[in-house]
Amino acid sequence: MIAIWWVRDDLRLHDNPALLAAAEAGEVMAVHLEERIDGVREPGGASRWWLHHSLSHLGARLRDHGIPLVLAGGDPEVVIPQLVRETGAAAVFWNRRYHLPRREVDARLKSALRTSGVRAESSDGYLLHEPWTVATQSGQPYKVYSAFARACRESAPPRPPAGLPQALVGPPDAVRAAGHDLGTWRRDAHLEKVLAARGGLPTTPDWAAGLRETWTPGESGARERLDDLEDVLETYDADRDRPSLAGTSSLSPHLRFGEVSPHEVWHRSLELGRGQGPETFRSELLWREFAWHRLHHLPDLATRNVREQFDAFDWREDAEDLRAWQQGRTGIDLVDAGMRQLWRTGWMHNRVRLVVGSFLTKNLRLHWRHGEEWFWDTLVDADEASNPFNWQWVAGTGDDAAPYFRIFNPERQQERFDPERRYVRRWVVETGGEDRVAPIVDLGASRRDALAAYERVKGTP
Ligand code: FAD
Repeated sequence: MIAIWWVRDDLRLHDNPALLAAAEAGEVMAVHLEERIDGVREPGGASRWWLHHSLSHLGARLRDHGIPLVLAGGDPEVVIPQLVRETGAAAVFWNRRYHLPRREVDARLKSALRTSGVRAESSDGYLLHEPWTVATQSGQPYKVYSAFARACRESAPPRPPAGLPQALVGPPDAVRAAGHDLGTWRRDAHLEKVLAARGGLPTTPDWAAGLRETWTPGESGARERLDDLEDVLETYDADRDRPSLAGTSSLSPHLRFGEVSPHEVWHRSLELGRGQGPETFRSELLWREFAWHRLHHLPDLATRNVREQFDAFDWREDAEDLRAWQQGRTGIDLVDAGMRQLWRTGWMHNRVRLVVGSFLTKNLRLHWRHGEEWFWDTLVDADEASNPFNWQWVAGTGDDAAPYFRIFNPERQQERFDPERRYVRRWVVETGGEDRVAPIVDLGASRRDALAAYERVKGTP
């Protein structure tokens, strides 16, 4: 019997409930779709780069087991049933996802498959606590992180990771021929287009070079980072806010694409002890859970202020300032260092994300959506929940967010978290030199303007 594993954000063989179920049911075929769903954004450029390499990696590993990875584009409600018919598959398995428009597609497909006599099963492989399993005593979603995290810690502990399937068997040759491989699929044309569109930006025209140097997309790269966790967690508490150090796990893109399960990361951190480092690290994993919890209940998190009073806020529109921010040419060292790290590597240290976010939405008073969209395109870990959630947190427009009036001073932040200027010097090579641009805003005056603008909406509901 042929069982289809619909590969989504679970590009791994370890601890993959959908793959385990398919392997148990029969001969496995894997399929990944480039989907177009109303209300869901296309992945950004950096995510596409990652996905391409991660799929290549997964495809090669599956080939070792004689399992084809079919790559196709289109509407899953059309393509999956078509594939079922072509291959004679009797079952389809996938891991659940949590953004409402996607859930609706999955629910309709599941019911259509079942109606036509095909087994269709979904599992939980992306989150430790699926959003509907955590609720307040009155059955409402959580709006405050600390209460949410407490509820998670007091609920059933995350299941232990399941490891690899005991046996993985592919379908007979005749069925395998229905597959297409990466070589005949879409992506190169798209990547070329993205590359061309980015040619004019600073640091380097080959934007993917820095990504290649920094990352190894795919399950093997994820497992290497996982093996580094012991060293990272030893000093995590002390080093995690120092952008010049490799003080955090760098697991975010691997978790984003499901190359490692959060269960495995959680349990690995438990094995490393109950000390402060692992404890703080697990709290960070719960921020990821919380972001998904919020997105599940607020599907338009990326486009609407959670606090509606900000609908009337006096955001500025200034294309030139936005461009300077994107390109790391604001004249503020820590901001420019962060934006250049992002452009070069597809990642930015969390402390610096907070600072560049505050600078954009407060000192420049540009809408957080501009920042969110830029991060969406350039981050390798950009995800549908964490990115808008954190942007609304920084901007003060979200629930339980840093209040708008808390404005980071990027110079003080740099003195505090990069006192030896290592991070800033690494990314802003011209720092202190004649080529250095002057600051595009006065930090004090722009802070006062932001606070005045906030005063005008503060009292409104
Ligand atoms: P570690 O410190 O090692 O943390 C372990 C894991 O916990 C991370 O891999 C991540 O999965 C999770 N995590 C940590 N902090 C957060 C957080 N604040 N929110 C959600 N999850 C968290 N993270 C993303 O994964 N995707 C995004 O698109 C994203 N956008 C952000 C935008 C802004 C404006 C800000 C301020 C933060 C954003 N973050 C995002 C959160 C955070 O910056 C990254 O998760 C973190 O820097 C990733 O590095 P790491 O894996 O070394 O983290």
